[in-house]
Amino acid sequence: MKLQDPNILKNQCYIDSVWVNADNNQTISVTDPATGETITSVPKCGSNETRRAVDAAELAFQGWHKRTAKERSVLLRRWYELMIEHKEDLALIMTREQGKPLTEARSEIDYAASYIEWFAEETRRVYGETIPSPWDSARLLVLRQPIGVAAAITPWNFPAAMITRKAAPALGAGCTIVIKPASQTPLTALAIAELAHRAGFPPGVFNVVTGSAADIGEELTSNPKVRKLSFTGSTEIGSQLMSESAATVKKVSLELGGNAPFIVFDDADLDAAVEGVIISKYRNTGQTCVCANRIYVHDKVYDIFASKLAAAVSKLKVGHGTEDGVTQGPLIDMRAVDKMESHINDATSKGAKVILGGKRHKLGGSFFEPTILTGVTQQMMVAQDETFGPLAPLFRFETEEEVIAHANDTRFGLAAYFYSRDIGRIWRVGETLEYGMVGLNTGRISTEVAPFGGVKASGIGREGSRHGMDEYLEIKYFCMDGL
Ligand code: ADP
Repeated sequence: MKLQDPNILKNQCYIDSVWVNADNNQTISVTDPATGETITSVPKCGSNETRRAVDAAELAFQGWHKRTAKERSVLLRRWYELMIEHKEDLALIMTREQGKPLTEARSEIDYAASYIEWFAEETRRVYGETIPSPWDSARLLVLRQPIGVAAAITPWNFPAAMITRKAAPALGAGCTIVIKPASQTPLTALAIAELAHRAGFPPGVFNVVTGSAADIGEELTSNPKVRKLSFTGSTEIGSQLMSESAATVKKVSLELGGNAPFIVFDDADLDAAVEGVIISKYRNTGQTCVCANRIYVHDKVYDIFASKLAAAVSKLKVGHGTEDGVTQGPLIDMRAVDKMESHINDATSKGAKVILGGKRHKLGGSFFEPTILTGVTQQMMVAQDETFGPLAPLFRFETEEEVIAHANDTRFGLAAYFYSRDIGRIWRVGETLEYGMVGLNTGRISTEVAPFGGVKASGIGREGSRHGMDEYLEIKYFCMDGL
């Protein structure tokens, strides 16, 4: 890999400010999903190394939370600047291990860095409260204090942003953190750790342990020194980690699967809605938890919308993320390809039609053609299960009540989108959708300034915005009497 600063490519774990191998020197290899090539390998750590990282984080917490908010803010700001300075290298590392087009990788680095910048600012505004006292002699205060050692387990689809939106508020709040990145994308995490090192965080404040998900996860959830677990990934693993964390009563934040509805009403601006689908469905080759998974189109505009969408999707360019002009990289692995195929086969066997794509791409490997299905119904697998790939299934509807019922008929509740210009409908639908995030007339909702998170089986807690810091803070009621 040709990097401007080759020193940010690391293949060791970062524990207590030291780069280390696994105790038994075992490794896991990191591959390029576009070519199947092995890029390098990283340590396959387990519970012992994780315990050491937690110990280091606990020790570091003693000094870190006593620093002034301004001191923590200055270090975060420096880290943010280093991410921006190294954007090109970070993006290239990400594209190689994750597959997304370089342009998307660059915007992810901007997005990831924006969380650090935001929480560098928020750090200085962790205000307490005073409460009018019911007793003459007493004064009542509320202090907001860091919870302690935090742990983060992150996925491969956003290898940088899912780390910074946990680590930045944790460090800003005064917590220390141990991170386990996804095994598919550890290099981005380790490069970010190198930049945190250069920013000057004290030893033990920020740690990254790569390796066995089950062993590291078990240590993080069972270790009583860890007071907070923040996880982004599948509902299945999130719920498992939540039960593992129950024994030590940890505070948990979970950002889990979605099954986003995207509703196009008959009064919508159809060209804008097509653009929204391209952004929401095809970004990261359909591998985001806020990707539109079910596209409901009103009967009156269904056919015209389907043909406009097909025209737009056929312009997408599939290829290696490092090639110019590519908008669709490979899927992360062959399991993802199997899921695409099973959703398409299930739908077509029940009467849906493929109007674009529908099969593996001629580039081979895990490349897949951007696909559109029409005639999709609630009885098909794709209505209940997140595809996590470039498949746009078009459902037909006639009434607002019917489409809202269908949109809410899922155990998930992360993001929802709808297109309309009718103000009455906008309020009705916006308030009735059972989702943590709703986008009106847009396919783009994510920003560091707004609360990201879901309801129902999509999770607990919010990341980003002023609420994101609360996940790493405890509230202490301080009753001062005898004054
Ligand atoms: P995905 O299907 O998107 O890979 P996962 O929920 O399996 O989603 O993975 C998200 C993160 O959870 C990754 O870092 C993965 O390594 C980690 N993970 C997977 N299984 C476990 C487990 N049993 N304990 C702890 N972490 C796990």
